[in-house]
Amino acid sequence: MATFGNLSDRLADTFKNLRKKGTLSASDVDGTVREIRRALIQADVAFDVVKEFTGRVRERALGDEVNKALNPAQQVVQIVNDELVQILGGEQRRLEFAKTGTTIIMLAGLQGAGKTTLAGKLSKWLIKEGHTPLLVAADLQRPNAVTQLGVVAEQAGAAIYAPEPGNGVGDPVKVAKDGVAYAERNQHDVVIVDTAGRLGIDEEMMKQASKIRAAINPHEVLFVIDAMIGQDAVNTAKAFQEGVDFTGVVLSKLDGDARGGAALSVASVTGRPIIFASTGENLDDFEPFYPDRMASRILD
Ligand code: GDP
Repeated sequence: MATFGNLSDRLADTFKNLRKKGTLSASDVDGTVREIRRALIQADVAFDVVKEFTGRVRERALGDEVNKALNPAQQVVQIVNDELVQILGGEQRRLEFAKTGTTIIMLAGLQGAGKTTLAGKLSKWLIKEGHTPLLVAADLQRPNAVTQLGVVAEQAGAAIYAPEPGNGVGDPVKVAKDGVAYAERNQHDVVIVDTAGRLGIDEEMMKQASKIRAAINPHEVLFVIDAMIGQDAVNTAKAFQEGVDFTGVVLSKLDGDARGGAALSVASVTGRPIIFASTGENLDDFEPFYPDRMASRILD
């Protein structure tokens, strides 16, 4: 995964040096932890997350499980792996469906985060899994958003509910509500509501998203975050958590070249699980997120 290329390389170097040693002294452990800390900070992982992570790795690496291990260096790598899985959310969290009736999913995030693309990716994935999703175009902010959603819906083979002129134009809350009602009436078992984002955190946008949330009472609110936004990720995620209160995270643009600290910070900072990962512009560049697989890729 390109996003973690640098981080992976640096960790690989660190572990290579460690493997040259037989038993590990406390200063070997400290040196390793310092290198891991630097690598994570350079990858733009949030400082608090780095601190907590390296603290736990250090404590465990100095403990008995390493002292008594046949291969202490390998044991330290295992600890780093375990702790990475933890900051990425631990167990995999699947998308939650309604027990009966239509599952309502709302998308939230900044403009350009990849919400509309995600709506297409998610629908395509859902169709493959045997569902009949309806996309609702409640992003009336960006002039092209409704058309763009129409394009991805068509690519995905999903149905779309979009406002018609004179029928709710300008009121995204009404469009969202009507779209959900339409899905329920027409036996769509999942409805995905795309909402408007702005370029930055904006009170109006949050108020609108929160009104939509209250009006449609979704089973899942997915917060889409661009993994390339670096240190801004933490503040953006916190603002959306306070403003809209999402139930899960989708990391987009994990294929990018930038440092992917967002990916490593957001679950731990918000306490919300990462449910999907997006890795390209194509509708197939999308997969459920597995914390353990991601950790292995980083440590590969
Ligand atoms: P929205 O404003 O949140 O609806 O964002 P869009 O879905 O319009 O996406 C913004 C831009 O990012 C578009 O050019 C997308 O093609 C692109 N994009 C979305 N997801 C990904 C991804 O996972 N990887 C890459 N490389 N580009 C993406």
